[in-house]
Amino acid sequence: MQQIDLRSDTVTQPTAAMRQAMQAAPLGDDVFGDDPTVNALQTRLAELLGFEAALFMPTGTQSNLCALLAHCQRGDEYLVGQMAHCYRWEAGGAAVLGSVQPQPIAHQPDGTLALADIEAAIKPDDAHFARTRLLALENTLGGQLLPMAYVQSATDLARRHGLATHLDGARLFNAATAQAAGPGGEAAAADAVMAEARRIAGCFDSASICFSKGLGAPVGSVLCGSRAFVQRAHRIRKMAGGGMRQAGVLAAAALYALDHHIARLADDHALARRLAAGLAGVPGLVVQAPQTNIVFVDLVGDARERSADLLAHLAAQGVQATGLYRLRFVTHLDVDAAGVDHAVAAIRRFFHA
Ligand SMILES: *Cc1c(COP(=O)(O)O)cnc(C)c1O
Repeated sequence: MQQIDLRSDTVTQPTAAMRQAMQAAPLGDDVFGDDPTVNALQTRLAELLGFEAALFMPTGTQSNLCALLAHCQRGDEYLVGQMAHCYRWEAGGAAVLGSVQPQPIAHQPDGTLALADIEAAIKPDDAHFARTRLLALENTLGGQLLPMAYVQSATDLARRHGLATHLDGARLFNAATAQAAGPGGEAAAADAVMAEARRIAGCFDSASICFSKGLGAPVGSVLCGSRAFVQRAHRIRKMAGGGMRQAGVLAAAALYALDHHIARLADDHALARRLAAGLAGVPGLVVQAPQTNIVFVDLVGDARERSADLLAHLAAQGVQATGLYRLRFVTHLDVDAAGVDHAVAAIRRFFHA
């Protein structure tokens, strides 16, 4: 039976060509700084995105943790979205390991944090308060692209108040792909996508990018910033146990993805639109129009009560998704149009639609 795993874009398997690139990579001991492939990846991404330096990380969580701790001292705080990964989904790492306090802010429906809310959350210099030190934004956030003008205004506002800025750009290249696309979603060339990625990341003091999501590498993130910032992050990465040895075997997959998997993100976005279009009009489903590779579908009315049955029905048809009353379908490298159509048909059959 056809298997289609729409739980996350992290489930991708490295392609045969990516495995070959990993196999062929020259390696060294990166704790001594002599893994040529890790060094090549770090230099390359820093240059592409317009930063002085970069650091290869085992995970996006560790990358965000090192960024938060490199920007903030004990007793500082960072402003962050209520639904942001580096607040909600990272086990409270900055607070637990860095004594850095998060100040979460509610999102607007488009995923942004209202400028007035950011401004109101910045504490005056007063002994009662933690020192507000950093604004952390996420783009894309739940598959939503933050408008470019907003990213500029929010980071300008932070800078005016003396705050540093961090971008959790786990899916930066999905954001850039959506931003570079034509009005009808027509795909842009890889260099146009890269230019948008650079424009977004250029608003921030630091940026973390995941290679193990839509870009299709098995493992790895990269944290970019100034030379001094990356030096601080390097020490924290060591403390967190993230000093890796012959890590070039992993960095090679990320380098391969930079060369071969950027332009194709537009295919994932097109498949997400195909899935959303396929589910349009099914009674009981409210389908959010996807901007990138994530489709949210709310179950309403009677469909809500049948949610667990729906998921079991889908699993029996070889279709995996996450959620309960709000289902999440994520398209990626290992999903094709036939798979999406299979998922759509299985859902429509369940609702006799
Ligand atoms: C996946 C993700 C991360 C990092 O996750 P890891 O599983 O630790 O690699 C960070 N931020 C966002 C927005 C993510 O989606």
